[in-house]
Amino acid sequence: MQKTVIIIGAGPAGLMAAEGIRAAGHQVHVYDAKPSACRKFLLAGVGGMNITHSEAYPEFIQRYYDKADWLDAAVSQFDGNALREWIHGLDIETFVGSSGRVFPKDMKAAPLLRNWLKRLRESGVEFHMRHKMVGLEGKQATFDHLGETRVVKADAVVLALGGASWPKLGADGAWVPVLQEQGVDVAELQSANCGFYSEWSEHLQTKFSGEPLKGVAFSFTQNDGQVVTKKGECIVTQDGMEGSLIYAFSKYLRDGINADGSASLTIDLLPLKSEDELIKKLGNTKPKESFSKYLKRTLGISGVKTALLHEVFDKQQLQTPEGLATCLKNVPVSFYKTKPIEEVISSAGGVCESGVNEQLMIRNLPGVFCAGEMLDWEAPTGGYLLTACFATGRLSGKGVVDWLRD
Ligand SMILES: Cc1cc2nc3c(=O)[nH]c(=O)nc-3n(C[C@H](O)[C@H](O)[C@H](O)COP(=O)(O)OP(=O)(O)OC[C@H]3O[C@@H](n4cnc5c(N)ncnc54)[C@H](O)[C@@H]3O)c2cc1C
Repeated sequence: MQKTVIIIGAGPAGLMAAEGIRAAGHQVHVYDAKPSACRKFLLAGVGGMNITHSEAYPEFIQRYYDKADWLDAAVSQFDGNALREWIHGLDIETFVGSSGRVFPKDMKAAPLLRNWLKRLRESGVEFHMRHKMVGLEGKQATFDHLGETRVVKADAVVLALGGASWPKLGADGAWVPVLQEQGVDVAELQSANCGFYSEWSEHLQTKFSGEPLKGVAFSFTQNDGQVVTKKGECIVTQDGMEGSLIYAFSKYLRDGINADGSASLTIDLLPLKSEDELIKKLGNTKPKESFSKYLKRTLGISGVKTALLHEVFDKQQLQTPEGLATCLKNVPVSFYKTKPIEEVISSAGGVCESGVNEQLMIRNLPGVFCAGEMLDWEAPTGGYLLTACFATGRLSGKGVVDWLRD
């Protein structure tokens, strides 16, 4: 029996659900607040669309932190390899970059999206843009369409409304109170893959804001004593830090700030050299020049790296080769706040695991399913975000088909 299903949210998660449900023969109507679909997906394609990752599944699934077991149900059925196959089916080639990240061959999102929307339309999926969901009662949604109220009833609903980062692209988190009113458990939406605020001295702010910090390693000590270390680079900004290396620590730092008001990282300014090697290099020659020239001559360190040493340590700590070597490899930096959710790559929080069943149907709203970034999981950059959006979209679509059949 053909049923009518509405998908609210035309991002990658919603469209994936739409595809599966339409393939099962149901009528599918996709609604979105914006004039066109997948605006965030298109933006993600601007700097090079990293759509998934090629690493082995056991490592891949652990990227979802404490939600790995939950997401396994979705991602194991549609992992990085399956996603690549699916992309190839849209006549888009992919390649694995040197870091293991997977990209469309031309690095762009637009050709993939164009082919996908064409296929969806040709299969019979209908799109209703400029429809903002403002209310939901069971399987009946209320939309604002250019100032006019429209009420739509369906046999099943998929919500794929995204998180709350970059709200001008459509996902603004306005759905949170709508679902909470229905008794759905929603964890607060918070910044993820984000920069952080720190309190720099005036010297660092005026002389070094905007400077890249390259070839360093950050370490974070978790509550259980385990240390997470990653190498890379980031940018020292006027009020904190931005860039890929700090983004990779955002869950740890944010959770630390939430618990204690601030959280610290340790920076190793020369991760390729051991402390003993540094002592040897520093000890060989007595400084005849200024401290910064001495560091430059012996270790090739200058600019913002030297400034960070002065920021944190006093002269006495930096006086001996042993003391200096320890400082170079252990610069503590403290952060007190995440950058605003509007400016960050993704959000954490959302509809809680306890609020949905194993096929992502909201437990106290039978027939209403959830998918994508609006669910309460997070992941670092590297293609893990989109993979989970596609995979949960696909699982919710399967869930709808099973539920309508049963
Ligand atoms: C700058 C940037 C770069 C990124 N780069 C990457 C990357 O390289 N790799 C990666 O894996 N991820 C990347 N991401 C993250 C990725 O784009 C998102 O995780 C993904 O788009 C989320 O998909 P979604 O379908 O859950 O939600 P979204 O893509 O946010 O789609 C949600 C849709 O719901 C609609 N909507 C919201 N509220 C309503 C409402 N009330 N009524 C009707 N419609 C509504 C919105 O208009 C939107 O179209 C990037 C994100 C940003 C911001």
